[in-house]
Amino acid sequence: MSGNKAIFAGIFGAAMALGGASALQSQGLPVTPAQAAPAAQSTANTTSALGQEALGWLAELIKINTTNPPGNEEAAAKYIAGILQKEGIAPDILPLNPGRSAVVARLKSSAIADPSRALLLVAHMDVVGVDKSKWTVDPFGATMKDGYLYGRGAVDDKGMLAANLAAFISLKRSGARLNRDVIFLATCDEEGFSESSIKTLIAKNWDKFAAGFAINEGGVVIAKDGKVQYTAVQASEKVSYNVDVVARGTSGHASIPLKDNPVVHLAAAIEKIGGYSAPVHLTAVTRRYFEGLAPLQDDEIGKWIRSLDTPDRGEHAAKVISESNPAWSAMLRDTISPTMLSAGVRVNVIPAEARATLNIRLLPGDTIDVLVNELNKLVNDPQVKLEIQSNAGLAAPTSSLESDFYNAIVKSAAQEFGGAPVLPYQSTWGTDSAQLRLHNVQAYGLVPFPLTEDDLKRMHGNDERIPVAAFGKGVALMVRIVNEFAVTK
Ligand SMILES: [Zn+2]
Repeated sequence: MSGNKAIFAGIFGAAMALGGASALQSQGLPVTPAQAAPAAQSTANTTSALGQEALGWLAELIKINTTNPPGNEEAAAKYIAGILQKEGIAPDILPLNPGRSAVVARLKSSAIADPSRALLLVAHMDVVGVDKSKWTVDPFGATMKDGYLYGRGAVDDKGMLAANLAAFISLKRSGARLNRDVIFLATCDEEGFSESSIKTLIAKNWDKFAAGFAINEGGVVIAKDGKVQYTAVQASEKVSYNVDVVARGTSGHASIPLKDNPVVHLAAAIEKIGGYSAPVHLTAVTRRYFEGLAPLQDDEIGKWIRSLDTPDRGEHAAKVISESNPAWSAMLRDTISPTMLSAGVRVNVIPAEARATLNIRLLPGDTIDVLVNELNKLVNDPQVKLEIQSNAGLAAPTSSLESDFYNAIVKSAAQEFGGAPVLPYQSTWGTDSAQLRLHNVQAYGLVPFPLTEDDLKRMHGNDERIPVAAFGKGVALMVRIVNEFAVTK
């Protein structure tokens, strides 16, 4: 998932109450030593033999350093291929670039494949970089500690990789009759989205994994105070653009200040842009998300969430909600984050140019030109130009909230998490699902592990870890989903 840590912090809202050690275990959450009865110490063991096995696969995958760049995903692809072969499943390694290969495998439902019905289980093998000095354990050591498995990619995205593998293999072992083909796909370069990404993979090998439905990362299972608060199933995602803000002026000797100094003009422009807040609008997905979220919040916030979509109090409601939670604010509007600055060659030289980069996330359906026009009017400085970079994300259609597969995910998550609400979700971060949706795949995002705010914040951060019991619950959920949707009743 390409995004930033603060996002994960925000999607929690007000606390929900409690539960003892057994409640924590039944919800797949780690038990702190203080809460644990001795037996609970076994939370290190997952809730099922398959979960235990998959935990071993996850540990081995963590030990394979697939930091992107350079990626090195081929090593992980070969490891996965070995596991599949042991199960009597023929894997297909799909080379993309040196050291970077994806892997695919298929369980057939019948002699004639019908891609439009097939189900794709997707996860990416690459991980973002680490600052080892900030970790308390080896990021690639797969350390087990206090009921957690630590390591880069434990959650993003090797946990899902191992859970998909477990669900896929469980179908093979059960010998269940499938009503559609089920395809396992491990991709490369999700974090970098460059020459080895799913875009290239689709261009080269679409026939190997064409499908009508897919489950991938992108959504979350929110856990708080020992309880699953809700499950958010991603059905659409915002579209990422990078825009350069370029100020140009007269270069000269710094001892003679000039009125058209580009650093000064850029700083003024960024200050205006930084204070800008785009208008709010709800999409079909966010409207349903907030409807489902309101009853889970404290009364005050719940009241304002319910007023979001009202003509008289909507604007004020959006203001209250946005101020209470940056992630909700980002779900309600196009967003602009200045992320990079560059100017100057020497301290005693006024540069001819100063440049900043804005990372913009558009709501599905919004266009970059409209927003850039707004910003140009706001900056209102002939010396400052806004240049849209070419590496933009692609606006992909929203996956249906009425599809059989969406309903199967909702049913399975509600069963697995004791009836906790399941809400549709529009993520502010990007995933491989956008490319799949552009190829008419009904793709849904769900990292199936009940995770607390602290666990989620560690993605792309330090000491990334996954609660082992939660991992077991995630494996159980994936098994439930594939059985619900792909096995003939
Ligand atoms: Zn990811």
